[in-house]
Amino acid sequence: MTIAVFGATGQLGAHIIDALIARGTDAGSIRALGRNAERLAQLEAKGVTTAQVDLDDAAAVAPALEGAETVVLVSTSVPGQRMPQHTNAINGAKAAGVQHLIYTSLLAADTSELALAAEHVATEQLIAESGIPATILRNGWYTENHQQDFEIGRSGTIANSVGDAKLATASRVDYAEAAAVVATDASHAGKTYELAGDEGWTFADFAAVESDLLGQPVVYQAISADEDRAQLLAAGLDEGSAGFVAGMNQAIAGGALDSSSRDLSQLIGRPTTPLRDVLAAWV
Ligand code: NDP
Repeated sequence: MTIAVFGATGQLGAHIIDALIARGTDAGSIRALGRNAERLAQLEAKGVTTAQVDLDDAAAVAPALEGAETVVLVSTSVPGQRMPQHTNAINGAKAAGVQHLIYTSLLAADTSELALAAEHVATEQLIAESGIPATILRNGWYTENHQQDFEIGRSGTIANSVGDAKLATASRVDYAEAAAVVATDASHAGKTYELAGDEGWTFADFAAVESDLLGQPVVYQAISADEDRAQLLAAGLDEGSAGFVAGMNQAIAGGALDSSSRDLSQLIGRPTTPLRDVLAAWV
């Protein structure tokens, strides 16, 4: 059985390859897919086969999936440009006769206030319409997204408009392991999982953990959405990016990244990686 992984050249995809191998999948039956030739060559050193494929090239997809029974589609990287790429991946998988498609969506995609949700919902819909047996992994935030906040915290204060909302994040390794579990067990087809960290944290918690790890004061300051936007502009973001990030923080302030789901720890058979363990690596 061949398991093909789109996005294998990226950070999550690389962990998925490692997790598949760690779970006993024969490396030779894993096909790593992506555009980056250098990364593909590095992955070959693990014993996996590779194919260079650009998801903007519709005709290239089905040949790259020949003989693959299972496909992991890691959502592509640029918001606003994903639909043609995801459409090509799904159509290619259908044409290649794929039996199980796994897609990395967004936590609570169908109700999320995050602007990112629309492309994930549309992709989930396309997958349903394709008729390919599928598993939707609605991934929450990566704890690793907050390395920049950690760096800012070194100066003593982290300020944003998230307020006291909780973020149930998990590490990329956790999400990758869940993808590997699902990709190696067709009984997950037809299921949608809400994947999030076991323990939500607030930015005050984040600052307290960072303070403890650094041995120096780090405090969290809640600011308004307007102040957040101004702060992002002052940090050098352009209008569009500052508005996008401030808008995300508003959705997060409203609870978009909080979750009581235990699907992730249940799938991987262990607790999700605690916030402290991820932050400790950045000290
Ligand atoms: P990366 O940016 O590290 O990886 C993105 C992957 O998408 C790469 O392998 C890249 O391939 C591939 N890709 C992008 N465009 C194309 C294309 N046209 N054709 C083929 N492959 C393409 O992201 P992560 O691994 O960190 O995250 C995975 C995905 O999760 C992101 O792409 C994004 O959709 C989403 N995400 C989730 C976050 C979260 O907190 N849950 C945060 C940020 C993103 P290549 O490098 O070879 O071009």
